[in-house]
Amino acid sequence: MQVMLLGLPGAGKGTQAERITQTFGIPHISTGDMFRAAIAAGTPLGLQVQSYLKSGRLVPDGVTIAVVRERLLEPDASRGFLLDGFPRTLPQAEALDALLNDLGKALDVVLYIHVPQEVLLARLTGRRVCKTCGATYHVHFQPPAVEGVCDKCQGELYQRPDDTEEAVSTRLEQYRQTEPLVRYYQERNLLRQVDGQRTIEDVWADVRGILEKIQR
Ligand code: ADP
Ligand code: ADP
Ligand code: ZN
Repeated sequence: MQVMLLGLPGAGKGTQAERITQTFGIPHISTGDMFRAAIAAGTPLGLQVQSYLKSGRLVPDGVTIAVVRERLLEPDASRGFLLDGFPRTLPQAEALDALLNDLGKALDVVLYIHVPQEVLLARLTGRRVCKTCGATYHVHFQPPAVEGVCDKCQGELYQRPDDTEEAVSTRLEQYRQTEPLVRYYQERNLLRQVDGQRTIEDVWADVRGILEKIQR
């Protein structure tokens, strides 16, 4: 199964991705997670991208595409994958098509999690992430049992430095670059829109239903 999640920052991609990988066993490929891991490890890639993530601007296409190309060539991606946060621009979408074509693969579906802009600020500024396992929480919408502690692994929860109001407004402005992708995948008959302004469980019921049909 080759699946892509499309949606603005805060739409709920990462939250649904956790459930998709658990249920369907395909690897979760998140460019944001890969960039944050590179920054934490102080690799050359991390040094190259850290100022973009900090301010909320998009990393240049060339760098991003190279990272995804390498990841898709790893053995675990040969039997399916879940792309989360890539592509985000038209050149990235075109590069992905070319890459999948070379590999003799194609996307099965693009799940577009649609949430109105106004809702996103509250989602992003209340987001908390586990330092150890990467699980996502929200101070109001998805609180952990004990404040500041991960339910799954007891790890410490933190606020991403780009989830502050200043960086969030920059990130939400980048939607102009991502919006054309809705049409791009509509024209290729791959787009399935999911209403993301409902509870996490209701969104998951739709996502799961769509993927179960594809799997059959
Ligand atoms: P969110 O989950 O809020 O949508 P991500 O974790 O996906 O955020 O991305 C965090 C940051 O990483 C982005 O603000 C951007 O700087 C960078 N990034 C992630 N994916 C891409 C991409 N496909 N193209 C360019 N930059 C990206
Ligand atoms: P994305 O990966 O698209 O940026 P996340 O999955 O990280 O988005 O979700 C952003 C924030 O909103 C997180 O704090 C998450 O717990 C919360 N969230 C996700 N889905 C919902 C939902 N359906 N209703 C309310 N809050 C949600
Ligand atoms: Zn954890």
